[in-house]
Amino acid sequence: MKILVLGSGAREHAIILSLRGEEAAHEILAAPGNAGIAQVATIVDLAESDPVAVADYANTHLVDLVVIGPEAPLVAGVADALRERGIPVFGPGKAAAQLEGSKAFAKRVMEAAGVPTGRAARAATLAQVSAALEEYGAPYVVKADGLAAGKGVIVTSELDAALAHAEAYLPSGPVLVEEFLSGPEVSLFFISDGDRVVPLSPAQDFKRLLDGDAGPNTGGMGAYSPLPWLAEDFGSEAAFVELVRRTIAEPVIRQLDAEGTPFIGLLYAGLILTEGEVKVIEFNARFGDPETQVVLPRLVEPLSELLLAAASGHLEDLPDPTFRPDAAVTVVLASEGYPAGPLTGRELSGIDAADALDGVHVAHAATADRDGKLIATGGRVLNVVATGVDFADARSRAYAALGLIGLQGGQFRTDIAARVAS
Ligand code: ATP
Repeated sequence: MKILVLGSGAREHAIILSLRGEEAAHEILAAPGNAGIAQVATIVDLAESDPVAVADYANTHLVDLVVIGPEAPLVAGVADALRERGIPVFGPGKAAAQLEGSKAFAKRVMEAAGVPTGRAARAATLAQVSAALEEYGAPYVVKADGLAAGKGVIVTSELDAALAHAEAYLPSGPVLVEEFLSGPEVSLFFISDGDRVVPLSPAQDFKRLLDGDAGPNTGGMGAYSPLPWLAEDFGSEAAFVELVRRTIAEPVIRQLDAEGTPFIGLLYAGLILTEGEVKVIEFNARFGDPETQVVLPRLVEPLSELLLAAASGHLEDLPDPTFRPDAAVTVVLASEGYPAGPLTGRELSGIDAADALDGVHVAHAATADRDGKLIATGGRVLNVVATGVDFADARSRAYAALGLIGLQGGQFRTDIAARVAS
């Protein structure tokens, strides 16, 4: 197949590595990609969030399948433009992508579909914010409605900080004030053809910058999969996955279909296990980063078949995907100063040596090749991904690999998957 993958992160690198690992030899194109993706795909010069440019390109170059990695092209309507031309695309149209693009939209769909989630109030003025904060009590949760690259959410015990956050976002529209939910979080991905869903394997990510879940929120500093502890509360991981499919993913997909905005793509359910119940914290409309990096290496069936079946509305032809029992761990290497003000342009070393370790590969995020040197170009620079027979094994490989990589001022957490490894 000729497959065009849009995006430039470690998630897209992971998707492409998974496609490359299949028996079928695909022709893989990527835009805009990064230095790691350039080693395994052909980089094409294309504005990935320009619907007409992407559709024209896919049409002219006879692309069989377009896979949209990040949210920006989805919200810009790239999938709609491709579908209008009859080109199979994995990713929802603009309307269904509102499930991620607008937290108020997501809450409305969940309510209509009867999906369990925390209470939330839409507030357009500071007085309304203040009333809702008082009603729900501390800790306080305030969210900007639209896409804010992970910066629109505050969870705090300080009333003043919650109000100040709301004040900063209110000029651009109403904010959501939510009831605080406490418990472990799980990311579970579903592939949907607009009508049916099939689940992938659960993962957990680490959002805070520092060990022990301290420091500011980030785009994600690491992840692991599977989640052995789910068996304690739900009998088995499979029982948990089935519960989420039945009570969350299927009702949401049915609701969006009934509204005339079918969701074709990756439904990312951000879940919290609270007082014996599974509730939705958020939905995303695309593969999660960094969870994808630990889910896809364990996938047994060819990823391209799943994505194409979803894109062409034939998911019923395939059995549910299965996953190897291996433990997978990913640790993110970030630039000095991330997330507040990453210092970029520094040289990376040791990537090839890390990549060569048994059971290890490096997924690039913000890297570029400058005059033969590999340079860090952003906050989250790369992910070391390791698999092993258990989490202790996977962790020791991941951290051995990180020990080989040089980046001045580089930061990474040392406790990713530590709890499940002991
Ligand atoms: P992401 O970068 O994951 O897309 P986002 O900006 O869309 O983030 P959310 O996922 O809604 O924001 O919230 C970010 C994090 O804040 C959650 O993963 C969770 O840890 C915490 N959080 C959000 N809402 C709540 C809540 N109601 N109760 C407790 N914690 C919450």
